Amino acid sequence: MAEKRYLMTPGPTPAPPEVLAAISQPVVHHRGPDYRRLYGDVLRRLGEVFRTEQDVLLFGGSGTGAMESAVANLCSPGDRVLVVSGGYFGERWAALAKAYGAEVDHLRYSWGEIPSPEDTGARLREREAGIVFFTHSETSTGVVVDPQPFAAVAREAGALSVLDAVSSLGAVPLETDAWEIDVVASGAQKALMTPPGLAMVTASPAAWEHSTVATSPRFYWDWERTRKGQATLDAPVTPPVSLVAGLDVALRMLLEEGLEGAFDRHRRLGRACREGLKAMGLELSSPDDDSSAVVTAARAPDGIDSDELVLLLRDRHGVTLAPGQGELKGKIFRIGHIGYYDVFDVTTALAAVELALLELGAELERGVAVSRALEAFERTPV
Ligand code: PMP
Repeated sequence: MAEKRYLMTPGPTPAPPEVLAAISQPVVHHRGPDYRRLYGDVLRRLGEVFRTEQDVLLFGGSGTGAMESAVANLCSPGDRVLVVSGGYFGERWAALAKAYGAEVDHLRYSWGEIPSPEDTGARLREREAGIVFFTHSETSTGVVVDPQPFAAVAREAGALSVLDAVSSLGAVPLETDAWEIDVVASGAQKALMTPPGLAMVTASPAAWEHSTVATSPRFYWDWERTRKGQATLDAPVTPPVSLVAGLDVALRMLLEEGLEGAFDRHRRLGRACREGLKAMGLELSSPDDDSSAVVTAARAPDGIDSDELVLLLRDRHGVTLAPGQGELKGKIFRIGHIGYYDVFDVTTALAAVELALLELGAELERGVAVSRALEAFERTPV
């Protein structure tokens, strides 16, 4: 039998068969009635998922494209901006803003630390900035922050708040309008259960106004061109029509489950994963609480290189997990549970980790991880 493969990374994530079936339908023309209907439905549903009354702009591109669009449409060379980071993806904001010539003040936490809104407010009082860039779910560490107080301190300082929600949208609570977050950027390949290739961004009226005075050059990522096209369901460029058909099905599935239901499932998957890893005797490197509902990170036992563990899992057992990135390389491994996952995916990953660690010579208590994970998943929330 051909090797069966299990994708348990924090992006891309597995797409449901219904989504894959939609993607495999005949290609439609993007200026015809079939696509227009689809386009309108997807844009409306994206608004529900982002929880915004504003337009959600949809681009062919990866999550970084949505982030870059925010920088290109808001920053002018020489603008003072603040980046708050605690990992690999937070640092991407700094790299993007620098690439567009902004003067970047970087409130940089060590990887895995939890950024604080109080520090952010204090930093803004010390050094003025027009835009604050931050990350909802830092996929490299498993830290998920509450974006609301960050948006509030930015607003108090007269700055726009710009959030990377690439790995959080649809997995953990996010209220774009109610929490007054100016810009939210995301991608479809994580909790939105669609193969990679779609980027989304939404902007508040204040952010739209600011975009009219920003002088960075832009064309493909220009918000106004896309907004104009979307207003008449006439995309400004050829969109990835088949992926949009897949996203349409995925969004229907997500909204049918209900966002609250999806958030609850992710919380319980996080619990299951944490309890299973701890039962094996491993030390978590992501937070040991319900905030960490997107990706769970653990340290490899002493003397075992986590990269070696990840390769063994992939090459011998067909289970793809994620290694540590940047400064965490070789130290941690990450199990993603964003999107189309249930508890049996988590128990599969745990059983495979247990087996691979034993193969690498670790001493573990065998057989406890799976049952503890199932128990933690079932426990009713208080
Ligand atoms: N931000 C976060 C939090 C992410 O998890 C990712 C993808 N892992 C990105 C940004 C970048 O997205 P992409 O790889 O789709 O460009």
